[in-house]
Amino acid sequence: MCIDLHLHSHYSDGTLSPTALVEMAVEADICGIALTDHDTVEGIEEFLQAAAETGITAIPGIEISSSFRGYSLHMLGYGIDHRDSELQVSLERLQHGREKRNREIIARLQGIGLDIQIEELDVLSGFGQTGRPHIARLLTLKGIVTSMDDAFRLYLRKEAPAWAGRFIYTAEESIAMIHRAGGLAVLAHPGQITPRPYSMSLFIRELVRLGLDGVEVFYPGYSPKVRKGLKDIAARHKLVITGGSDYHGNNKPYATMAGKKNRFCPPRSLFDLLLKKIDAFQNRNL
Ligand code: AMP
Ligand code: FE
Ligand code: FE
Ligand code: ZN
Repeated sequence: MCIDLHLHSHYSDGTLSPTALVEMAVEADICGIALTDHDTVEGIEEFLQAAAETGITAIPGIEISSSFRGYSLHMLGYGIDHRDSELQVSLERLQHGREKRNREIIARLQGIGLDIQIEELDVLSGFGQTGRPHIARLLTLKGIVTSMDDAFRLYLRKEAPAWAGRFIYTAEESIAMIHRAGGLAVLAHPGQITPRPYSMSLFIRELVRLGLDGVEVFYPGYSPKVRKGLKDIAARHKLVITGGSDYHGNNKPYATMAGKKNRFCPPRSLFDLLLKKIDAFQNRNL
């Protein structure tokens, strides 16, 4: 059976509720799932409750955008205690950074003559956190651009006229934050790190020194050769291997959830190993 350990809900920049994600996973005959919203754990409670009514094993997760020596990367956290108050305070800082950036982006869009208001963004986002994909959707809905891609290309990507930075943690801080909340830190989609590391092997070795526990090896579009390369690196450092679709609902229209039908099927054996490692980590001092 397949697992999917990389899912986004409408608490970050996905379009489905955590409950709807669980229902979709049941339909796809998936046996293990994790919710990994960007920078927030707001959806976890609903996610776990919805999964408890099914035969699916669900674990709490998160995906934290991080910096590392001039590189941007995403750090996944698995098995975190989403109620941990220290974790929540650290995440609040990221949310404030996002709010500040959203205001800056809207001001820049207004500055180049576009009719767009922060209130419209709040209405569109509804609740949970608001990021660039919401702004991209608003630009699309208002007919200012014809696609999400165009919104990023013309206005929102780095170097585009409405781009603005935000506060993010270093990889070291993200790993420590995840560990303190009882979770394991896993490097998300290593092929998407920007800029591209000269040597993935050396890059990951440096992160292992900071406490990295695993690597996401199964990711849509990664060829068998890419997977093999990542698996070898993981084996060398005794890292756990994970996999997931990075499903965002309609915010990434070409991406689908894992499942045999979608021909993307991270195997269940990975999940069993991950659960064992999480358990060992959480009980290390008992
Ligand atoms: P943020 O976290 O607010 O900086 O937004 C980052 C999100 O934007 C990530 O989830 C990306 O997947 C998404 N994103 C980046 N480029 C594009 C694009 N061209 N089309 C759709 N989504 C994108
Ligand atoms: Fe996203
Ligand atoms: Fe990511
Ligand atoms: Zn993601």
